Amino acid sequence: MKIKEKVIEVKDYLTKSNLPASDYVINPYIGCPHACKYCYACFMKRFTGHLEEWGTFIDIKRCDKPINLNKIQNKSIFLSSVTDCYNCFEEKYQVTKKILEQIVDVKCSIGISTKSKLILRDIDLLKKFNDLKVSISINTLDENFKNDMDNASSINDRLCTLKELHNQGLYTVLFMSPIFPYITDFKGIIEKTNTYVDEYWFENLNLRGNYKQTILDYIKVKYPNLYSEYDKIYLKGIKMYWENLSREIENYCKQNNIKYINYFYHEQLVKARLKNHFLFFA
Ligand code: SF4
Repeated sequence: MKIKEKVIEVKDYLTKSNLPASDYVINPYIGCPHACKYCYACFMKRFTGHLEEWGTFIDIKRCDKPINLNKIQNKSIFLSSVTDCYNCFEEKYQVTKKILEQIVDVKCSIGISTKSKLILRDIDLLKKFNDLKVSISINTLDENFKNDMDNASSINDRLCTLKELHNQGLYTVLFMSPIFPYITDFKGIIEKTNTYVDEYWFENLNLRGNYKQTILDYIKVKYPNLYSEYDKIYLKGIKMYWENLSREIENYCKQNNIKYINYFYHEQLVKARLKNHFLFFA
C-alpha cells in the first residue's frame, strides 16, 4: 500500500508523558504504517488534521533544536507511544537513530517499544546505553492472526529480534499487548520465549471508537464461536474475564519466577495521572 509521506518541522522531540512509567515520550513520527487494526493511537488523526485512513500516512518529524539534555537527566523516556519508532520509514530517515545518538551519554532510563526487526540495525548504539529496556510486542504465535491485525514484522522475525537483542546483552521485554480474549495464549508465548526474555509486560485489549466495531466484526467472521464472549466483555461490559486472567497471569508468573508487570489497569493509571490520551503501545 502506498503511504503518503511528508517531512514536518517540530519545535521539540520531547513531550511530557502521561504514561504511568515514564517522564517523557518521544514520537519521532506521526502516523504508523503498521496500521494495527486495534490501534488507539489513531485518535492522533484528530489532533494533526489528517483525514486519511490510519496507517496510510506518515509525517517525519524534523527538529533543528537539539534535545535539552539537562531536562532528561535522571528521568525516564519512552519511545514511542503513538507510533512505532522503528517503522519502515526509519530505514530512510533515521530520525530515531539520530535522537538516540543525541541522548546516549545522558544519565536517564530509556524504554523502546517496537514491532519491527529494524531495531537490530542500531544494536551497537543501543549497547552504549546504561539503562535501557527494549520491548517487542507480541500477542500471538499465529502468523495468520498477526497478518490479519497488522503490517509489522512477522512473529518469527520479532522472536528472532528478541533473541538477538538478548544475545547481544540487552535487557529484553516481551510486551504482550494487546491481549485478545481467548486468542492470546500467554502461557504458550512465555514457554516459547522465556530463555531470551528478561521481563514480560501484559496489557488487555481495550475497544473504543471506530475500531471497536472493526474488531467485533472481525471476530464474528473469523472466530464466530468466540463472539458471544466478546459480546459479554465489550458490549455488556462484564469484567470477570479480565479479573480471572489477571489472577491467572500473576499466579503463573510468580510460580515460575517470571519477572512481569501487569498493565491491565493501565487505563485507570493513566486517567489518574492526567486526562489526556497519550497511551502505551507501539
Ligand atoms: S505499531 Fe503501535 S502505533 Fe503503530 S499502528 Fe500498531 S499499535 Fe498503532
